Amino acid sequence: MTSPGPASRPVVLVVGGGYVGLYTALRLQKKLSRGRAEIVVVDPQPHMTYQPFLPEAAAGSVEPRHVVVPLRRTLHRCRVVTGAVASLSHAERKARIVPAEGSPYELSYDVVVMAAGSVARTLPIPGLAENGIGFKTVGEAIYLRNHVLARLDAAASTDDPAVRTRALTFTFVGGGYAGIEAFAELEDMARYAVEHYYPRLSTSDMRWVLVEATGRILPEVDLDMAAWTVKQLTARGMDVRLNTRLESVSDEGVVRLSDGDEFASDTLVWTAGTKPNPLLTQTDLPLDERGRVRCEPTLQVSGLEGAWAAGDLAAVPDLTKDQPGATTAPNAQHAVRQAKRLADNVVAVLHGREPQPYRHEYAGSVASLGLHKGVAQVYGVKLKGWPAWFMHRSYHVSRVPTFNRKARVVADWTLASVFRREVIALGQLQDPRREFVTAAGGGGTGQLPAPTGADRAQAS
Ligand SMILES: Cc1cc2nc3c(=O)[nH]c(=O)nc-3n(C[C@H](O)[C@H](O)[C@H](O)COP(=O)(O)OP(=O)(O)OC[C@H]3O[C@@H](n4cnc5c(N)ncnc54)[C@H](O)[C@@H]3O)c2cc1C
Repeated sequence: MTSPGPASRPVVLVVGGGYVGLYTALRLQKKLSRGRAEIVVVDPQPHMTYQPFLPEAAAGSVEPRHVVVPLRRTLHRCRVVTGAVASLSHAERKARIVPAEGSPYELSYDVVVMAAGSVARTLPIPGLAENGIGFKTVGEAIYLRNHVLARLDAAASTDDPAVRTRALTFTFVGGGYAGIEAFAELEDMARYAVEHYYPRLSTSDMRWVLVEATGRILPEVDLDMAAWTVKQLTARGMDVRLNTRLESVSDEGVVRLSDGDEFASDTLVWTAGTKPNPLLTQTDLPLDERGRVRCEPTLQVSGLEGAWAAGDLAAVPDLTKDQPGATTAPNAQHAVRQAKRLADNVVAVLHGREPQPYRHEYAGSVASLGLHKGVAQVYGVKLKGWPAWFMHRSYHVSRVPTFNRKARVVADWTLASVFRREVIALGQLQDPRREFVTAAGGGGTGQLPAPTGADRAQAS
């Protein structure tokens, strides 16, 4: 089946409704009247995820629903398709759409904005795919929150020291800002929970291990700030292993590291970097040696008319750097600004004007390390502890799209400061039909089977 756009107005296809996709479509719907163009946004999820808030969502400081922005509500002048673009032929100006339900179909377009972002970059480590979990989606954040709290419940409810030790060992791989924030925020939440609600456990029973293959964490800040962060985490009893790699994970959850250490851990979170969305290999767009779409400074795809790209999957020349071949880093700061420039350029070209180059000097990074703890380096100013944490919150609340989400996030923070954090595991969310299936199957005991090997990462 082919879904043709009305012949009278160009169809602008936005592939992905994340940072770049949402902000581009928002600006296009504002600047182009309905009769001027039809804007179609395709994403497998019905919402944009504000990823910088995922660690706080996992830690229970922000309600997970408030870190996502519903596409249909926000992009009310666009056509939103819930599905994935499986392939794209720009030569034919056609994209193959796989909708959430029903048969795949082709969509004809005039202009494409490639904004499908990145996916986790994994390595062929034995047992990783079966036992690990990433940290990029709101589903993963909710899962990890429930999982960590369920592990505390399991440890507090057994007398078996091996089960207890394994349940209370949490392993993270990758020390970029996503990994460090997830590691530090979840530890902070678990510490709070143990101190307040688990009299049979002590915080010293928990083992939080972060494995980083290089000699430092947080490459976005200076070395002294990264070293300070390691010191802070170590002072909290967390185990940060630099120059160490994950070698394997067994079905029993035994993690083996390159430094020879081996231990059982019910939790393995992989945050060791990202790579461009593999969808790009199913297109005729030009790619660089890292698999990113080659772009001009105007965000036009190199050598193609009517094709644009930005964000994590795009190799955009960094005009603020002297080194030849330098490209902008994959982060939200560039994504949001590139989206604005890209939308303005699409509008300019549709109106017969010249597109303008993208130029933005990287301002720096802010990272949260738990409640009232953080590290930041912005425009050369270095902040540690509470001021950095405050800056992290102020910055991100100013950036999260829509007034509705800003208000809800601030309300969450305010309620949490008055009533304390919510630390309850809703483990049934992970497998909501289990009880009914057991009951309907007859003879069920209502008891949950013990988590084993591969499904330990799925069911807890
Ligand atoms: C936990 C975490 C914390 C972070 N914190 C920070 C931070 O503090 N500061 C910062 O600057 N950056 C941060 N980042 C990075 C930042 O979120 C990304 O750089 C930014 O989201 C990139 O925007 P994007 O639009 O390229 O990709 P995304 O925002 O990931 O959007 C891609 C979209 O494409 C959709 N998609 C995927 N495949 C298809 C397909 N086949 N067809 C159609 N749609 C598809 C996805 O569902 C998604 O909605 C963080 C990232 C993570 C994971």
